[in-house]
This record gives sequence, structure tokens and C-alpha cells, in this order.
Amino acid sequence: MLLNHLFYLAIPLFGLVMGSFLNCIIYRLQTGEGFLKGRSFCPHCRHELSWQDLIPIFSFLILKGRCRYCQKPISWQYPLVELATGIIFLLIVWNLEFGICLEFGIWNLLFYLLISCFLIIIFVYDLKHYIIPDAVIYPAIAIAFLYQLFRMLNFVNWNLFGIWNVESGILRPISSAFLASLFFLAIVFLSQGKWMGLGDVKLAFLMGLFLGFPNILVALFLAFFIGAIIGIGLIISGKRTLKSEVPFGPFLITGTFIALFWGNQITNWYLSLFI
Ligand SMILES: [Zn+2]
Repeated sequence: MLLNHLFYLAIPLFGLVMGSFLNCIIYRLQTGEGFLKGRSFCPHCRHELSWQDLIPIFSFLILKGRCRYCQKPISWQYPLVELATGIIFLLIVWNLEFGICLEFGIWNLLFYLLISCFLIIIFVYDLKHYIIPDAVIYPAIAIAFLYQLFRMLNFVNWNLFGIWNVESGILRPISSAFLASLFFLAIVFLSQGKWMGLGDVKLAFLMGLFLGFPNILVALFLAFFIGAIIGIGLIISGKRTLKSEVPFGPFLITGTFIALFWGNQITNWYLSLFI
């Protein structure tokens, strides 16, 4: 029991630290520096940061959002990504414990945590730079594919007929991935790349592998729904026009997380409307 409580505390705290690391990756993806070598520094004055400057969220609050050395403002991205990663990690352990949407098991836990990190990086990077980097999306797709393959092989005890099994087989996530990305490929083709980019096609493939059916439908529906509401809001407030480019990745990822945590409830509620 005590161990359970410690686990609940440890994983979200680990999420805060991971969030800090993800911020570092997002910054270095843009500048092309290596992820692991070199210490963190202020992007304005390039002063090396000490451990007191690197405590997730707290450093930002104590420093009142300003660099200790040059007093330039620190982006809100830093505490927000740390907080979001902590909350998503908490939702993952919580969901695993109560088995609401996710399947229990240490490998499942690691898989959900890892893919969530990839998705958070893509969310921020696409929002800031309007591009989904191949260096992030391809490894994520490879990991999701291998996970589904091993899960299926494990489940069916190496019985090859198991791949056709609808419930446990790999065909569901694979076909979800292909159908979702074909759908986006059609949009890219029809709009000649104006509404969506190839990055969205790859992200849709990852979502299909990660969520499977029917959660992929829930995620896509939510992405378009939230995207439409925010798009209309931006146009009414005069921040964007109909012709502005708005990155779609953040909406797809928001839909993915909602479908991951509450997909079953949403599907059941939707189906109950017809019975
Ligand atoms: Zn500075």
C-alpha cells in the first residue's frame, strides 16, 4: 500500500523532471546541438545554469520567470511543459491502476510514458515552428510498431494465427495507422499541402499504432472539433484570418491524450445515444 502511494508520487515527480529534459530536447532540436552532452544554459546570455535554476516549476516561480544572470524573461513554455508532463504521467499511472483505458504492466507503463514524451515534444515543436521533425516522429513510430508486435506475439504465445485475432492482433493498430494516415494524405493532396502537411500524415500513423481502433476515431474527431473551435476563436478575435497557417499537430495530440485516458467512456457514451 505504502509502495503504491510512493509510486503515485514518484511517477508524476519524475514527469516534472522529464518535462525539463523535454524542454531541453525541444531547444536543441532547433539549434541542432546534441541532446545529452553539455550543460543547460540560458538561451539569452548563455550563462551555464546551476542546479537551483533547474528545479522544475519551482525555479521559474522563485526567479519570477527571469534569468538569474541576465534578467531576461524565461519562456512560459518551460514551466508549462514540466507541469503538463507531470500531469500526463499522473494520469497514466492512475489509468493503469484502475484499468480504465490502459492495460496494466511495467512494459505498458514504460511504453505509455515514452510515447507521451514524444507527443509532448511534437506538440510544442509544431506549435512553435510549424513542423513535425522526422528525428522525433520516426523513432516514435518504430517504438510503437515494435511494442504492438511484441504485445501481439506475447499474447498469442507465438501462434502466428493470432495476428488475425481482432481483439489482440496487430492488425487493428496497423490498419488504424494506415487508414488514419491515408485520410490525412488525401487532405494534403486535395488541399495541395495548404491545410495539412506530410508531418500530420506521419503523426496520424503514430496515433493509429498508439491508440488502435476505435480510439483513433475518438482522437481524430476531437482534434477536428477542438481545431474548429480554436480556429473560429482566433478568427473572431482577429489573431488569424481564414488564410493563416495554423499547425494541426497540437490538436491531433490533444485528441490523442483525451482518447487515451477517456476513449472508452466517450465511445460508450456515444454508443448509448443509439440504444
Ligand atoms: Zn540569461
